[in-house]
Amino acid sequence: MNIIIMGAPGSGKGTQAVKICKAHGIPHISTGDLLRKNIADGTELGKQAKTYMDAGKLVPDELVIALLKARVGEDDCKAGFLLDGFPRNAAQAKVLDGIVDIDVALYLETDLKKLADRVASRRVCPKCGYSTSASQAPDGKCRECGENLIIRDDDKREVVENRLKVYAENTAPLVDYYKAEGVLKTVDGMNSIDEVNADIEAVLK
Ligand code: AMP
Repeated sequence: MNIIIMGAPGSGKGTQAVKICKAHGIPHISTGDLLRKNIADGTELGKQAKTYMDAGKLVPDELVIALLKARVGEDDCKAGFLLDGFPRNAAQAKVLDGIVDIDVALYLETDLKKLADRVASRRVCPKCGYSTSASQAPDGKCRECGENLIIRDDDKREVVENRLKVYAENTAPLVDYYKAEGVLKTVDGMNSIDEVNADIEAVLK
């Protein structure tokens, strides 16, 4: 099954993506994670992407599309995959349609006005990718691997507002795009993590 998970920054799509991939044994392809890995590795692509990411802007399509094409072409994607953070605009959705068939586009519906606080309190593990909120990790350590949690550069409040704006302008219209393709499944993303996960599993069955 080829799945897309869509939702605003802070909608919980990364958290749900990890759970879905574990349950279904499919690779989790997050373009944000791929870009952050390029930055950490100091690649040319990482250097180019960083300025856009730090400003909360979309990285230019040609960079992200090249990254995505290479990743979905790998062997572990033959039996299905989950895309998290791609496509982010209509041009990317069209390119994706030309490469693979999408079976389900999961949309985590959220109240955009409530997301800025959620994102600003997010803490992530630089080692294993675990994500939580500051209030859930008072010791600042990752629950999964013990590493010190960090604040993503683009989760700083001044950048978050821009990311939400970019989402509303560029990515939100894709909900209608996938609705028209007949693959859209909407889930209430304001519920608890477990409730959202149960709703997603019901939809995937
Ligand atoms: P994410 O981890 O999905 O929130 O992505 C973090 C940042 O990476 C975004 O704010 C963008 O700057 C960049 N990014 C990730 N995926 C894409 C994409 N499909 N197209 C353009 N930029 C992206």
